[in-house]
Amino acid sequence: MPRPALRSRSLRRVYVKLPSGKTTIHYEKKKNDLAKCALCKKPLNGTKTDNLYKYSKVEKRPERPFGGYLCSSCLTHLIKQAVRQF
Ligand SMILES: [Zn+2]
Repeated sequence: MPRPALRSRSLRRVYVKLPSGKTTIHYEKKKNDLAKCALCKKPLNGTKTDNLYKYSKVEKRPERPFGGYLCSSCLTHLIKQAVRQF
């Protein structure tokens, strides 16, 4: 049985086969989900998901209005809609 800290499900279990043929369990941090567009749910380009503390704000998402929240095609569509109302 693994030690108590490893029994929780907050760590991901990776089964690794050793050269001897034995299988062992390695415990790794879980990975974050991909950033998705709020409207069309498409995965966003230019966004980072893991180790966010390592990067500055401009490295984590595109530098434009709604960057990291809406994809470029949804934003284009919304801006065109807003302009046509005048
Ligand atoms: Zn979108």
